[in-house]
Amino acid sequence: MEDEKATNAPTKTHKDYYYILGIKPNATSTEIQDAYNDLYEKFGPHIAAHSVDADVQARNFKDICDAYEVLMNPQKRKEYDKNSEVFRQTSDVRALWGKVTKDKKAVVEASKPKVEEVQIQAQALEMEFEVTLKEAMKGARKQIIITDPTPCDRCADKKPLERMQCDGCRGLGYFNVDRTVEIDLPMGMCNGMELRKHGQGRWDLRAGKYGDLIIKIKLKEHPFLKVIGKEIKCILPVTIYEAMLGADVQIPTATGKVSMKIQPLTQQGRMYRLKGLGLAGADMIVIIDVVIPKKLSGEEVKLYKHLQEISQEPNPRQAIYEKLDQIP
Ligand SMILES: [Zn+2]
Repeated sequence: MEDEKATNAPTKTHKDYYYILGIKPNATSTEIQDAYNDLYEKFGPHIAAHSVDADVQARNFKDICDAYEVLMNPQKRKEYDKNSEVFRQTSDVRALWGKVTKDKKAVVEASKPKVEEVQIQAQALEMEFEVTLKEAMKGARKQIIITDPTPCDRCADKKPLERMQCDGCRGLGYFNVDRTVEIDLPMGMCNGMELRKHGQGRWDLRAGKYGDLIIKIKLKEHPFLKVIGKEIKCILPVTIYEAMLGADVQIPTATGKVSMKIQPLTQQGRMYRLKGLGLAGADMIVIIDVVIPKKLSGEEVKLYKHLQEISQEPNPRQAIYEKLDQIP
């Protein structure tokens, strides 16, 4: 097909550059320039980088730049008009970019910095942090990398349009610079906990100060211990002898092994509560799981039979039988 050849041709776009700049398809270069200047003031990197959805804004602004670049170049514009596959939308669409007033004067007024002192809130940086149970109990010191925007010194004092051409920062007006910081996580953390570190986040160009760092705690899975809320649960296998005669056993906790006394005649499923060994001062629950031997020697069978003979244990099903008899 003829169209196949087009793969190497200038990239086709489905974006309507006229729509993006809010101009008519027959706009003159002066109109394009004016439209671009307006949009730069409203959505340029100096604004985009600080908005709540910075990534979206940056992508939007890239569209504005692409549109400007193509439409201002007569050759590129001609090709674009020929190749673009967009359904031309009406040109009265500035609403897309928010309320960009048509009145040029008003736009200029609006883009001027406000004289009144406004405290700009530095944007907070959110991070999720995986911690082990031990770290959650004892606290931890962690190294993290924070990326700060740092103004580009090559174009900081240039006009917006010149800034666009800056090779140093590719028109963004700033660089991202990594910084390694150490943060202290407190003892007694639990899953989903949010910690706010005042002024320990990313540098905010607009506010001229560091934002807060918000750390969301996520607990790593532990092979033996289950965290339910703040309680830690552990299923502890014990032998039949330990369950019957009692024993001192070592149990795993979040911070290491501790000794625990198993009472004589401990039943299957019995729960032991260990004060303060859970998260944030909660308890740890140890659930006993009696392990029945998997094989017996002849000697053991003989001894168990003897035990059975001398046992005074009543039939544990007695109560069931009595109840059954009462059912008509
Ligand atoms: Zn620059």
